[in-house]
Amino acid sequence: MTTKKITIIDPYATNQVPLIPAYTSTLGGMLPDTRGRLLRDLRISVTDRCNFRCTYCMPKEVFDRDYQYLPQSKLLSFEEITRLTSLFVAHGVEKVRLTGGEPLLRKHLEVLIEKLAALKTPDGKNLDLALTTNASVLSKKARALKAAGLQRVTISLDSLDEATFRAINDVDFSVADVLSGIDAAHNAGFERMKINMVVKKGVNEQDVVAMARHFKGSGHIVRFIEFMDVGSSNGWRMNDVVPSAEIVRMINAEMPIIEAASNYTGEVAQRWAYADGSGEIGVISSVTQAFCSSCTRARLSTDGKLYTCLFAQSGHDLRALMRSGKSDKQIAGAMGLIWNQREDRYSEIRTEATARSKKVEMSYIGG
Ligand code: SAM
Repeated sequence: MTTKKITIIDPYATNQVPLIPAYTSTLGGMLPDTRGRLLRDLRISVTDRCNFRCTYCMPKEVFDRDYQYLPQSKLLSFEEITRLTSLFVAHGVEKVRLTGGEPLLRKHLEVLIEKLAALKTPDGKNLDLALTTNASVLSKKARALKAAGLQRVTISLDSLDEATFRAINDVDFSVADVLSGIDAAHNAGFERMKINMVVKKGVNEQDVVAMARHFKGSGHIVRFIEFMDVGSSNGWRMNDVVPSAEIVRMINAEMPIIEAASNYTGEVAQRWAYADGSGEIGVISSVTQAFCSSCTRARLSTDGKLYTCLFAQSGHDLRALMRSGKSDKQIAGAMGLIWNQREDRYSEIRTEATARSKKVEMSYIGG
């Protein structure tokens, strides 16, 4: 018998130390890229580890016992994350999302949340501080997260069918445990949560309507996400994508929905409201209707590299700048140069061939 070997990019090997501008007059200021997109959002991967092995994200064949995760010394400390975030905020970031890997596996995450919640935008506003989680330990942590200043929680749940969900997470985690995590978060004061369901053809498309029906009227918003070619390990093929238009058609056939206006420019999900006024769903069509033209997101990897696209092949090593004693002004200047030169628009130019190129894994760069 032969074992299939999937090679993935070694993100730890790429080491682009950013250039520092010779002269920087001020720290921060709004940053347009080459397409006029301002830097607005930051996703931070606080750990590259996860306790799930979702087949489309961290498949067991790659993320096995021999997989080399980052050692503790390579992770950004909470102080380093807070310092970099404050510089991103000076450059216009207003929304920060903690992700991973599974962010709740990072010890004492609430301490980091407290530090981030204390940051203010240049005009004195609080950050919009959110977290994406598989909810496996949310029942235990929800109250501490809320008390620390976390504002919003997004939960990933790919099916309400026990067998399908267990087959996707591949570690026998049950639907009931995720649902009790959602209840615990609700009781801790997180209202209007978002529930993310990645839809993959032949895997869970049959569960779309049941998912919508379950959360209809709950105040939570289910968002159906097209399966994407992130990383190099999930064997993505265009044929595995269920287009959002098909998801909208399936739900509308059972529970009529009407397209709703975006809440703000650059909103990733397209909103659809139930005609009977009992809430809404969202669809995220990164494959069939790319939204690169309004993408304002930067990503900070677990070891402090700045990535300007989810589908990037390499990042910019901000940790190296910090650990070699560069000043805030110098690091902020380097961030500015990187963002000003940003050209990324991967989803607009995606083909089956680009999908096979080696990209960094989502668990490391932050989902
Ligand atoms: N562990 C956390 C969780 O499960 O929510 C956070 C990290 S996870 C990488 C973030 C989100 O990315 C999840 O909602 C997950 O379903 C989604 N995701 C992962 N791989 C994906 C893919 N290939 N296509 C679309 N979404 C994906």
